[in-house]
Amino acid sequence: MDEGRFDSGVYGYVVGRCEITVYFPIDKRGEPDISCKQCPYYRMQSRTCGLTEDVIPYGERFVGPKCPLRREEVIDAGDGDQ
Ligand code: SF4
Repeated sequence: MDEGRFDSGVYGYVVGRCEITVYFPIDKRGEPDISCKQCPYYRMQSRTCGLTEDVIPYGERFVGPKCPLRREEVIDAGDGDQ
């Protein structure tokens, strides 16, 4: 249906962007688990990042070297005793 639509070139682009948020949990000792395993974009079966498409061999322990997530803040979830 779109065959030939861009035969004479591309005249510009419409840019699409999005912002995502991922929550890496912190245990009772205050140790965060900042690893792909905690990220919903991690594809466990292929060990790849769904955002960068990179293969991440140690996603159970680390994030990928090109992980686009910036770490911004710690959210206190309370004392967890309830
Ligand atoms: S590299 Fe970053 S965005 Fe990609 S799966 Fe790992 S934590 Fe998620």
